[in-house]
Amino acid sequence: MSGRPLLNRRLDGLGTTIFAEMSALAAATGAINLGQGFPDTDGPEAIREAAVRALRDGRGNQYPPGPGVPELRHAIADHQRRFYGQDVDPDAEVLVTAGATEAIAAAMLALLEPGDEVIAFEPFYDSYAACVAMAGGVRVPLTLHAPDFRPDLDALRAAVTPRTRLLLLNSPHNPTGTVLTRAEATAIAELAVERDLLVVTDEVYEHLVFDGEHIPLSTLPGMRNRTVAISSAGKTFSFTGWKVGWITSTPELVAAVRTAKQFLTYVASGPFQYAVAEALALPDAYYTGVRDDLRAKRDLLADGLTDAGFEVHRPQGTYFITTDIAPLGEKDALAFCRALPTRCGVVAVPNSVFYDHPTAGRTQVRFAFCKREEVLRTAADRLREAFTG
Ligand code: PMP
Ligand code: GLN
Repeated sequence: MSGRPLLNRRLDGLGTTIFAEMSALAAATGAINLGQGFPDTDGPEAIREAAVRALRDGRGNQYPPGPGVPELRHAIADHQRRFYGQDVDPDAEVLVTAGATEAIAAAMLALLEPGDEVIAFEPFYDSYAACVAMAGGVRVPLTLHAPDFRPDLDALRAAVTPRTRLLLLNSPHNPTGTVLTRAEATAIAELAVERDLLVVTDEVYEHLVFDGEHIPLSTLPGMRNRTVAISSAGKTFSFTGWKVGWITSTPELVAAVRTAKQFLTYVASGPFQYAVAEALALPDAYYTGVRDDLRAKRDLLADGLTDAGFEVHRPQGTYFITTDIAPLGEKDALAFCRALPTRCGVVAVPNSVFYDHPTAGRTQVRFAFCKREEVLRTAADRLREAFTG
């Protein structure tokens, strides 16, 4: 074979995702896994049973319709009306995807020409860089700075060029937990309208907001026609393995994203689509219960990390806490996370890998708190013993 690298240049440097690396480390060491964001308890029993029923009844065992089963598309439209007062046509304005991950990929592949610029706030979820790269786009990172990780709206305005095609936004934000305020969301929307930008909003943590409120950008003036809103059942219903996600947008944007999506998976998660349709219709008490439970867990782990000597950035949403390890005398988040399981039996994720900027986030480490209370207590005890004992 020629000396040419096997992996193409667009994917060069993307390596193995940090989530796979750290979950493998957890499995190999038996450490408590507060790295990859998945709950250690499944979602509602009734919804699990709904999936079993669909499978037994032969619903979704063969290819479901490309845009998603009608029951789920209607449930997504009902959800948008119920929580955000937004009218969405379940036939033309909804597309079911293989998790939010496929929705992000299909949106980038559909909407970008090579060389188009995509502005995103870093630290960003790792698939953003990969998907923009696969589509031949150019990512333009804007750094959210500690301690409060607010977006710099002047920097955002200055970053828009004639080559800017879209803003890729994530609120509630993984990994910092930042939730855009109404003023921030409004300013971003006004800029998008003024500069005629498309906006892709990753809203997978829409129901996990502890302080403030989730404002879908698509509900703001001038935004409905330029926004592709992405969400997923994984986080809201604690079934991350089912990989049921979706987009809501205009018929034109949905058709564009569907064009790319149909050649990625075509369709996925047949029986699970029926179960998620039932999940979306759960009463308000379910949604507030998940949120209140996670808020208590956030406070439990945040206090434990503070006691162990970490600087803690308490998140407004998501199920992640970003910390700084500098007060522990540590200088490198990746090295710290690779050593942590043998040091004290806990796995975390280094935020440094979510930045383009080479030194930003160098001492930031993320802990997931979507775990049982006793697991969080044990992890906190281990960290306290290791760093203050
Ligand atoms: N976006 C963000 C910000 C995430 O944290 C995740 C991880 N769950 C995803 C997208 C992917 O979601 P899914 O598992 O539905 O593909
Ligand atoms: N979204 C999850 C996290 O941020 C990971 C999902 C994945 O492993 N791709 O931890």
